[in-house]
Amino acid sequence: MSSKDLRAVLIDACLQADRLGLNSGTAGNLSVRYADRMLITPTGIACCDLKQNMIVECALDGGHSGRWRPSSEWNMHAEIYKAFPEAQAVVHAHPDNCVALSCLRKPLPAFHYMIASFGGDDVPCSAYACFGSRELAQAAVQALQGRNACLLANHGMICFSDSADKAVANAAKLETLARQYLKAHTIASPVLLDEAEMRTVRSQYRTYGQQPAADISGNDS
Ligand SMILES: [Zn+2]
Repeated sequence: MSSKDLRAVLIDACLQADRLGLNSGTAGNLSVRYADRMLITPTGIACCDLKQNMIVECALDGGHSGRWRPSSEWNMHAEIYKAFPEAQAVVHAHPDNCVALSCLRKPLPAFHYMIASFGGDDVPCSAYACFGSRELAQAAVQALQGRNACLLANHGMICFSDSADKAVANAAKLETLARQYLKAHTIASPVLLDEAEMRTVRSQYRTYGQQPAADISGNDS
């Protein structure tokens, strides 16, 4: 995809994140992989004001040129592209329920089978490090081992996927699950699914949502 097309994809994804309530003000940022670099949202611009020329083409060492400066969290995006070759898009956000949970500095456990869709039996919470720091980028990569999403201690969440729209959808799914977990927790500690149950869920997920080839035409017989 050309740089121009990817910029349009990135802006669409930002607007979708906004519609889904993932953004608060200018907090949160998105990027897509672009060859050996990335295209990332600029720092300090609300997504409703975003134009294609404001998207920053940024090397994975932070090098960039032009008028617009990349998101202050460019380090975290860059380290994820370096560590996870399958990552094509990264979403970082501060939605309320993920933030609330991140302040407990505990993983989001297997209270619901959909936790398995993030790659494991929980969604971990990273160690704490200051926003924008290299230490935070390293803590995020460490928490993401074997996962495609994690909470960031006293901060928010970050996730990656193979496309920008899927990464936004995964971020929204994590926020929904965080809300549901916190809601259950107001009554009592939720019963967790055990390892065997989560193994079964993961094997079910391998074929989940796939139609037999013959049925893709939409013809019901
Ligand atoms: Zn942040």
